[in-house]
Amino acid sequence: MPVAPVEPLEAYAAATATCTRCRLAQGRTQVVFGAGNPYADLMFVGEAPGFHEDKQGIPFVGQAGKLLDRLLAGVELRREDVYIANVLKCRPPGNRDPQPDEIEACEPHLFRQIELIEPQVIATLGNFATKLLSGRPLGITRVHGRGQPLTIAGRSVLLYPLYHPAAALYTPAMLKVLEADFARLPELMGQGLQPPAAAPEPEPEPAVAAPSEQLGLF
Ligand code: URA
Repeated sequence: MPVAPVEPLEAYAAATATCTRCRLAQGRTQVVFGAGNPYADLMFVGEAPGFHEDKQGIPFVGQAGKLLDRLLAGVELRREDVYIANVLKCRPPGNRDPQPDEIEACEPHLFRQIELIEPQVIATLGNFATKLLSGRPLGITRVHGRGQPLTIAGRSVLLYPLYHPAAALYTPAMLKVLEADFARLPELMGQGLQPPAAAPEPEPEPAVAAPSEQLGLF
């Protein structure tokens, strides 16, 4: 019987399942590679798996994931229409922030995913994904909702930073902003790679990050 060809993304996920590039390999239940449509035009990048993601092997399945599902439904998208991944593929102990050396060790996995999926729009969720993929230190409160045309993994993409759903869960004002930013996704996707007209330059970053930004989520 002929054997179905293994899709390159699937093959890469299988190779990543045994990754030992950083200390997080020791405490994880499993690598949480990513999930969704391998041909998606829209890719979401969060921070790192939490408790439930580590157990189930799927990103965004806890409370923040339920909110992400609701936000997707609000723009008539389902998980199966998009691809969802994280900066880190393994859960940091106690859900602590990703460490710089862990991000550095894990980023080849994310860049390879982007190369294979070839999304048009990458929506980064929170500070860690936004700073890594924009290559700039600007915090999410400055840049959320502003599309940035960039070259990532050798491809032209529109980077679209959003607040992290976990932060919006407990802050109604942030949820409103996240919903409004999400509502622009269909328009951005329709525009393909055109940058939004007259997107204003982000304000300069304050010398000291606001306490909320120091948490890393937003
Ligand atoms: N938060 C994230 O950033 N990613 C997940 O997969 C779950 C929660």
